[in-house]
This record gives sequence, C-alpha cells and structure tokens, in this order.
Amino acid sequence: MKLLLHICCAPCATATFDAWRALGTIPEGVFFNPNIHPFSEFQRRRDTLLAYASEIGLRLIGEPVYDVAGWLRMVAGNDEKGRRCRICISGRLRFTADLARSAGFEAFSTTLLISPWQEHEIIREEGEKAAAAAGVEFAYRDLRSEYGRSREMSREAGLYRQKYCGCIYSEAETALERRRKAR
Ligand code: SF4
Repeated sequence: MKLLLHICCAPCATATFDAWRALGTIPEGVFFNPNIHPFSEFQRRRDTLLAYASEIGLRLIGEPVYDVAGWLRMVAGNDEKGRRCRICISGRLRFTADLARSAGFEAFSTTLLISPWQEHEIIREEGEKAAAAAGVEFAYRDLRSEYGRSREMSREAGLYRQKYCGCIYSEAETALERRRKAR
C-alpha cells in the first residue's frame, strides 16, 4: 500500500514506522503540526525528525508550514481540552488526507495512534471524516501497545522527547499538573 504518514514527532514515528514496515508497507511521512508552541519547540521537534528520518531512510514530503495564527483562530472559543483537540486533530488529518490524494497515495495514517495520551477515538473519527472528504483511505491501526517500544527506541536513538502535547494550552496544563503533584 502507498501510505502517507502524518508524523507528530520523531519518538512516535519510531515504532509506528516499524509496525507498518512489518506489514510490508514503507510509509512516507509529512510533519504538519501548526499546533506546536512556541516556534523554537516546533523547530526542535522538526529538526529531531529530519535527523531521525535520514538515519532510518524515511522519506518526508511537504514544505514546512507553521501557521500558528491560523491554528489559534481555528480553536478560538473552543479552548476546553477535548473540544480543541478534535479541531486540532481534524485540521492536521485533513491536511494530510488532501496531500495524500494530491500526491497519489492510496491511504494516510498518523503517528498519533501510538500514543496512550492522545484522544484515540477522536483521532479515529476525524481520520475517517478526513478520508471521506478527500476520497482517500484512512489506514486506522490501534498501535498503543507499541508505545513502550517507541519509548525504548527513542531512548536508544537519543531522540529529544517533549514534555507536553504541543499547544500553548497543553504546555500550561502540564506545568500546572506537575506543580500540583510536587506539592
Ligand atoms: S492538547 Fe494536543 S491535541 Fe489537544 S489541542 Fe493541544 S496540541 Fe492539539
């Protein structure tokens, strides 16, 4: 299958790439995450992925896009976790689905499906909607059982692992939660 993989970060790409390769599919990847705040964090995650991709022979397509203003406009008024995550995930998967169709891929998927910290059912629902809108298959797989392996692989490869999901809201929520636990 010719598969385009939306990649949120290098650590999640590790075991996801392996899981697809084990089925005989060598995915190509796209890093499209305008949710990541601040820009220095976006660059760090992207640079980590670029280095890792060249190491493992993962081909990346698409120009770097960082429309944080557009992303903030999209979630404005829906800043509650869950509601904003649906909008955030939908935007990234729709971009990937459109790119997959225009670049001649049969299907698309996302590394978000490996994370137990993500809203898994929302990813599945929004992936299916994006697929229907673009006319290209959403290759759904529940890869959460591979999450531990992705942590091991990231450690072995010395990859930068971020401390929060990506957006400014998640950065604040994670910091507040850490402070609460430390008390
Ligand atoms: S917490 Fe993560 S998925 Fe939810 S809006 Fe923020 S970056 Fe997007």
